Amino acid sequence: MSSNPQTPLLPAASPSTWLGVMGGGQLGRMFAHAAQAMGYKVAVLEPSADCPAGQVAERLITAGYDDPQGLEQLAKLCGAITTEFENVPADSMAWLGERSFVAPNAACVSIAQDRIAEKRFFVECAPRSGVMPAPHKTIASHADIDAIGDELLPGILKTVRMGYDGKGQVRVRSREDVRAAFDELKGVTCLLEKMLPLAYEVSVLTARGADGASVVYPIAENVHRDGILFTTTVPGPNVSEACARQAQDAARAIVAELGYVGVLCIEFFVLQDGSLVVNEMAPRPHNSGHYTIDACVTSQFAQQVRAMARLPLGEVRQHSPAVMLNILGDVWFEAGSDTPREPAWDRVLALPGANLHLYGKDDPRRGRKMGHVTFVAPTLEQAQASLAQACAILGIAP
Ligand code: ATP
Ligand code: MG
Repeated sequence: MSSNPQTPLLPAASPSTWLGVMGGGQLGRMFAHAAQAMGYKVAVLEPSADCPAGQVAERLITAGYDDPQGLEQLAKLCGAITTEFENVPADSMAWLGERSFVAPNAACVSIAQDRIAEKRFFVECAPRSGVMPAPHKTIASHADIDAIGDELLPGILKTVRMGYDGKGQVRVRSREDVRAAFDELKGVTCLLEKMLPLAYEVSVLTARGADGASVVYPIAENVHRDGILFTTTVPGPNVSEACARQAQDAARAIVAELGYVGVLCIEFFVLQDGSLVVNEMAPRPHNSGHYTIDACVTSQFAQQVRAMARLPLGEVRQHSPAVMLNILGDVWFEAGSDTPREPAWDRVLALPGANLHLYGKDDPRRGRKMGHVTFVAPTLEQAQASLAQACAILGIAP
């Protein structure tokens, strides 16, 4: 890894340039909105023909993420290319990087998509970042399970690759539990992480330009439910100034050490004794950064456009306290039944400070991210009051 800017520095990409995105989900959709607002045209590469980003992009290349013809089309068309999901094949990003400007690069993406590489990087970076990850051990065989020390239990067994929204994770109390969970996960390589006594969770969104300049957004406090982000509150009601400073300094050290270009989100745990532990990083805009669309001078998606186009990064100042509520498919069903219904958006939008974002998905399923709503207000209490009313309207336990 190098903290040097990419050389030679390319000139800024003008709005006649196409910007490419690997992946067609909601993050690609909101990226496209931001890029188009700045005059760029957007091409999306995604295997499924009807996807949130494909609905709004000027061009949808319907191809697998490793399809040579699809990748070639994307590279020929686009002056800069990014990814909207972290499990994009790193080889595809590397191939694209030889033909176009790619941010983030394949090396950064491949660290973030492999929990072992990610943890190793965090440990190596700790002297500069001042934060360590949770105690952990790689579990690739039954012999590894026999060698587990008592200090890692109880813990969480996580698949090394392809985990998201708490998927591919099993909570374990004993070696027998680990053995059963490892078999249940079909013997794929896993990481056993010690279960830590969390007080709360925070994330820090950062962006770094190709010239090495970086910005760090205000720290966000996140509440998860069933492994999925439930709300993000900024400023976080539990976050002390010292904790915010430590997390932001750690984030700065991490992006610099990675030599990262683009938007990166780093998740942290704050333990009951107040100490900070780094959990994982997402090499792209992040669900906990959606509040920036409505509450900050520059949204995380506009920031990604700027980084890709080698433009100056935008101001990260937050102009209003904000609470973001994820909207899952569950709210399209009557409470406790399978009877479908249309959520009362008219009542949600009547609440003060409401900004509704729906992702164009027409198949609501329980646990599926369908949209989000951000409440902004002059005070955090007012934003939280709107959130409580929205939960009541949508039938979500507050
Ligand atoms: P996502 O991609 O949605 O952020 P993920 O599936 O990659 O999630 P993690 O972020 O590692 O998984 O874990 C999901 C949640 O599980 C965390 O936000 C936290 O609430 C809890 N969790 C994970 N690891 C630990 C740990 N070591 N100790 C206590 N709680 C944990
Ligand atoms: Mg996470």
